[in-house]
Amino acid sequence: MEHVLIIVGIVVVVAGGAGALVVPRLRRGRPGPGTGRGTEQPGGTGTAATGTAAPAAPGREAGPPAADITAAPPVPAGQAAPAAAAIEHPPPSAGRLVRLRGRLARSQTAFGSALLGLLSGARLDEATWDEIEEILITADMGAAPARQLVDQLRTEVKVAGTRDLAEVRALLRADLLQQVDPNLDRTLHSAPHGDRPAVLLMVGVNGTGKTTTCGRLARVLIGDGRTVLLGAADTFRAAAADQLETWAGRVGATVVRADREGADPASVAFEAVSAGIDRGVDAVIVDTAGRLHTKTGLMDELGKIKRVIEKHATVDEVLLVLDATTGQNGLRQARVFAEVVDVTGIVLTKLDGTAKGGIVIAVQRELGVPVKLVGLGEGPDDLAPFEPAAFVDALLGG
Ligand code: GDP
Repeated sequence: MEHVLIIVGIVVVVAGGAGALVVPRLRRGRPGPGTGRGTEQPGGTGTAATGTAAPAAPGREAGPPAADITAAPPVPAGQAAPAAAAIEHPPPSAGRLVRLRGRLARSQTAFGSALLGLLSGARLDEATWDEIEEILITADMGAAPARQLVDQLRTEVKVAGTRDLAEVRALLRADLLQQVDPNLDRTLHSAPHGDRPAVLLMVGVNGTGKTTTCGRLARVLIGDGRTVLLGAADTFRAAAADQLETWAGRVGATVVRADREGADPASVAFEAVSAGIDRGVDAVIVDTAGRLHTKTGLMDELGKIKRVIEKHATVDEVLLVLDATTGQNGLRQARVFAEVVDVTGIVLTKLDGTAKGGIVIAVQRELGVPVKLVGLGEGPDDLAPFEPAAFVDALLGG
């Protein structure tokens, strides 16, 4: 009996060791439309390989040590790969904000309906204009834009000589839209450059919804026909990498992660981009740690990640994830991040949980950078490309 147990033990150890060596075979070339996702599917669906190491990309420069990195498919060792039917195909992202407009109900009531009520009400005197300004400030729009909007609206209402609801609504809509700024370029740069993937770096404080946003952004891109690889460079929280694997597993994407907590985030980022090049994916999304320990620490960490990626690819987007419910605190975080890294776009999460939709205006003004995506719920497809007109219409309930 003892012998049997020893033999079983040896078999288990050997099998486990072999399992750890398995990495997916890296495939070159861009996958064809509609089949691209297939190249990222977890083991057993055509890409899983033997213990071969990832081939180096041509002309790839040396990066930081690649130790402790695994490009494991999102299936825990020893478990069966999910059946092809289990892979989800997210819907395209266009028009999502319109579909999810109901999620802005809290802002609509506190902001849109209240403003329209006052503007078309019986009395529009000095006190009412003060009240209007206060509503705008309470909605986190910021004092300067609020004053500007009230001054402009006041003149317009006077010139138009109207109190008709539809007419004042049209005036308020135009002024709000101007504050949100429909002319800002909100394109999400996720198209590959020749044989190099686009790289999107996600930054932000823990708890803002950064990792969720990485997963949901992967779904947005996949839904829009791109292929995606996720890099789990938040190496200080194993849970963050696990979370990414769960998101990735649902859509058949791959995650590159470190196999221990505290590994060098820049190494993971480098390996993720290398794997993205080798696999010919369209976009690599890199999650980063959101520890606001010290400004210098943050600067060093994000700076290094960016430099290391730029050894063989371009960082196309640095997306700052902010929690819309945190008001002034969120704006302070935004300032710190904008000082240490060139933010190219803002992702405003949890807009569904706040009556303070005005934060969109405040944060854009603060950073001079457009809001590109908004989170409108906890569901997998509740991340929407930001559309100024649809947003203002949702606030005004029209
Ligand atoms: P991280 O620490 O920044 O990576 O934050 P997580 O991605 O773990 O998210 C923190 C929590 O915020 C999770 O419970 C998410 O479901 C939730 N969350 C993220 N985005 C949204 C959103 O747009 N709306 C709502 N209601 N919750 C969100």
